[in-house]
Amino acid sequence: MTSIPDLIRKKRDGGQLTDEEIRVFVRAVAEKTIQDCQTGAMLMAIWQRGMVSAETTTFTREMMSSGEVMSWPEEWRGLMVDKHSTGGVGDKVSLVLAPALAACGCKVPMISGRGLAHTGGTLDKLESIPGFRIQQSSEQIKDILGSVGCCIVGQTERLVPADRVLYALRDATSTVDSLPLITGSIISKKGAESLSALVLDVKFGRAALYKDQRGARELADMLMSAGNELGVRTGAVLSRMDAVIGRRVGNSLEVMESLETLKGGGPDDLMELTATLGGLLLTMTGLATDLSQGRKKISDAVIGGAALSKFQAMMEAQGVAKETARELCSAHTDYFKVFRKSEHQMELKAPADGVVCDIDGMLIAQVLHKLGAGRSKAGDPVNHSVGAELLVSLDETVQTGSPWIRLHYEDPAPTPDQIQQLQKALTVGTRTQQNRSLVTEVLLPR
Ligand code: URA
Repeated sequence: MTSIPDLIRKKRDGGQLTDEEIRVFVRAVAEKTIQDCQTGAMLMAIWQRGMVSAETTTFTREMMSSGEVMSWPEEWRGLMVDKHSTGGVGDKVSLVLAPALAACGCKVPMISGRGLAHTGGTLDKLESIPGFRIQQSSEQIKDILGSVGCCIVGQTERLVPADRVLYALRDATSTVDSLPLITGSIISKKGAESLSALVLDVKFGRAALYKDQRGARELADMLMSAGNELGVRTGAVLSRMDAVIGRRVGNSLEVMESLETLKGGGPDDLMELTATLGGLLLTMTGLATDLSQGRKKISDAVIGGAALSKFQAMMEAQGVAKETARELCSAHTDYFKVFRKSEHQMELKAPADGVVCDIDGMLIAQVLHKLGAGRSKAGDPVNHSVGAELLVSLDETVQTGSPWIRLHYEDPAPTPDQIQQLQKALTVGTRTQQNRSLVTEVLLPR
């Protein structure tokens, strides 16, 4: 049998690994029969030489098969859906989309992640709700899908164990940003959910992983190809990530904005993105005849309150006390009766009269991260109460001295430099932009 050093040499020298060679490598990783230095060397060889499409597909399939592959009741066939986002600022789409899809008849076993670097994580947001348990076994997931239709949970111990090892070593070896490694990591986990359809929100812009649309398109193509090869109908939406999605950033503040959205009062950009991603999934499952009908079904589920009922039921099924879930979902709730409010708030003032031309989401995210809203390495704690409320929207008129952002902070307090950085995030001028829509391209599976 080929030895691990032979496999590393072959990839290092630009060779194409066979299916059997990829299987040997991934099994050795999952079964821990390979040394970390060998895994690191292979990761670097893949980072440098890349993989052709066939290698990426085999790599993804072998990763998926390294652990449990979930199975669902026959009557749910065709209805299992999920979404993956490459990460943004104020991105609370999952919290609205999962219950909206359940209200439309889908089953949504949404497996989400924690925030890292400047982007927030859905699990951290949900954990700001007292009692919410993100860790659920496969059996519990199945029960919740049976009674509610959606759940939002963390990766179980048994799902894609090879990814846990590789992800940690990618971080340690500077090999995170490799298209085949990203594809294997993301799509193997979605494949193990045994989905019928998957939609990818691939973001580009200054607050996204990819700064331009071309890079985002390349990633979307590779993810879609691997997903479809694994038998999951996979589509994608390319979306702009320059400002902030909605008007709240930070864990508990984003849950509050999601609840307001589920009560029918959500911001246009969040509704647009949610409806397009959900509409595409409904089209791929056949629950809508086309994207426009799919979008309408999702909007109706949100505006009409059906998605809010699903969110309430999901919270209860995932450990939130009945009283708390009811309080959060009632029409005129005081959210701070449930969420802990940060000890301090501070409003910053607009520097001039004019129109809000730009809000730099990256600058805002970087400051909030330093104030404790995010984490720098896996396992670090986050402060759920830290965040910001935008008090103005793009294209809105502001006056000198009127408040434009309310910062929620504790310890550490923002430094003068950080306040200056936040002030730089706002551009006031005379120019407005014609097209503010976030979605730039919708890609259906071939
Ligand atoms: N999310 C993942 O799970 N893996 C990656 O490589 C990137 C994002």
